[in-house]
Amino acid sequence: MLDSPIEEIKSRLSITEVLQDYVQLKKAGTNFKAVCPFHSEKSPSFIVSPAKQIWHCFGCGLGGDIFEFIKLIENVEFSEALKILADRAGVELRKPTAEQIQVGEKRDVLYEINDQAAEYFVKVLWESNAGSEALAYLKKRGLTDQTIKHWQLGFAPDDFHYLEDFLTKSFDKKDIELAGLIIKSDKDSSYFDRFHDRVMFPIINLHGQVVGFTGRLLHDKPNTGKYVNSPETPIYNKSQVIYGLYQGKNLIRKENRAILVEGNMDVIACHQVGFTQTVATSGTALTQQQLIVLKRLCENLIFAFDSDAAGSNATKRALELALNAGFNVKIANLAGAKDPDELIKRGIGLWEKAVEGAVSFIDFFFDQTFSKHNVQTVEGKREATKELAPLIFRMTDPVTKAHYIRKLANNINVAETAIWDIISKLSVPKQIRTKQQDRTHKTRREVLEDQVLGLSLLNKANQHLTQFSSADFSQDKRELFESLIKQEPIPAKLTELVELLSFAAEMDMKEQQLDAKAELARVSSEFKKMVLKQRMVDLANKISNAEHLKDKNLVAELSKEYVLLSSQMKNF
Ligand SMILES: [Zn+2]
Repeated sequence: MLDSPIEEIKSRLSITEVLQDYVQLKKAGTNFKAVCPFHSEKSPSFIVSPAKQIWHCFGCGLGGDIFEFIKLIENVEFSEALKILADRAGVELRKPTAEQIQVGEKRDVLYEINDQAAEYFVKVLWESNAGSEALAYLKKRGLTDQTIKHWQLGFAPDDFHYLEDFLTKSFDKKDIELAGLIIKSDKDSSYFDRFHDRVMFPIINLHGQVVGFTGRLLHDKPNTGKYVNSPETPIYNKSQVIYGLYQGKNLIRKENRAILVEGNMDVIACHQVGFTQTVATSGTALTQQQLIVLKRLCENLIFAFDSDAAGSNATKRALELALNAGFNVKIANLAGAKDPDELIKRGIGLWEKAVEGAVSFIDFFFDQTFSKHNVQTVEGKREATKELAPLIFRMTDPVTKAHYIRKLANNINVAETAIWDIISKLSVPKQIRTKQQDRTHKTRREVLEDQVLGLSLLNKANQHLTQFSSADFSQDKRELFESLIKQEPIPAKLTELVELLSFAAEMDMKEQQLDAKAELARVSSEFKKMVLKQRMVDLANKISNAEHLKDKNLVAELSKEYVLLSSQMKNF
């Protein structure tokens, strides 16, 4: 076996073999051509080099090796692409240690225990006297037989050893305890069931396996929580699991949106009336990990939280996290209903209206804030600004931002400049890296920078690069730019990038029968123009901010710079 599994996989799989499952490859000299799967085109500009084991598209500028291809086409992270290709090549990623084998086997046992427990609870619900009351309760809540079966709802009877007795026929007590289903007594070495007298909702992971349960009390009891969840176990990570995602993922992906509700019953009620893009965080507040899981499937979220929670700090925190993760967030108005389940009972049309009429989070919070504070008073003005300014600050579109700044200023009756002043002092929040967001196509600017670097490599000439600075290039190209400018040896870790860029440039020249020197001059000039234009846009933004702040000196200084740039622009 070669040193790294990556090399091993590459040595076993040919690039054409992998790619032809996704695109129709046609021989073109020593290379292959295809219609690009990543942008829409009629004539093929997607080139595959079997000799170099790389691919490149001249239309959209994407390119790379088999791993990069699988990442993009399957929309997965590198680690997942590695797994897919390792499977295909028959490469074992890591020889598991004895301990890992043991943990792996343990996990299998835990899945098995949870699965059997779920089946058992279902059986009790449908077939026993003890379950009949719970079944009646679920039907009274409006669930059909089909829904109850679809969600594998069950019942844990009011007994402390019911499940224990059943499971110990097949499993070790220690393992059942590890699965979170029985608890060891403090007094002696005996065990008792965690769930009793509860309607059971199995929690299912993305692969359709039962990993734990939520139990809802059937009869109210003093000092007993209405809901009890399985504890975290080796197979149940609470901050990752999303209730309803396994059942809802197809529609979520198709519609590019998910509806987020609070309770399991809400999820089930929504799915029952066809809103299968509905999910809930189960037993936790919304977490970053859950958002990362959702982000693989969609970019839009609709919050449909219980009416007492809307506008609460927990909702604001969830909103903050979702915005940081790059979601567009809308908020549904439940029109006075306590939760989605209740609204659906009043009428599916009302629920549909709440979802389709969901408003941008910002309008929602404007309404909230102004109904809460008396903005005739100084105190009220201050509070309203404190709540709304950070939200306005997050808006990326300058027109929308200006609109809400004016709206806030008018509402609290202060000068717009005061709001601009406050917002300009807020700091940029930390972003969660979400690579998926914009990796499906390259911008014209990125295509140009690739060409400038690739043609410089091909021509072994750097004189066209001297007009740029490293800040003009994307982060991952800066090191290459630096070593070309300084005429230093290119670091070994950049070999792949160099190979890809020069191959792309070479193919481009051949395809279009262009002269590499003339082309380098042309793309350098186009790239320079784009860089200057961007600098002017940035500068114009700064000037308008300075004008709002009435900083005359800064405006004058920036304007001088602007004039200089526009005279440079005239040379193009
Ligand atoms: Zn393309």
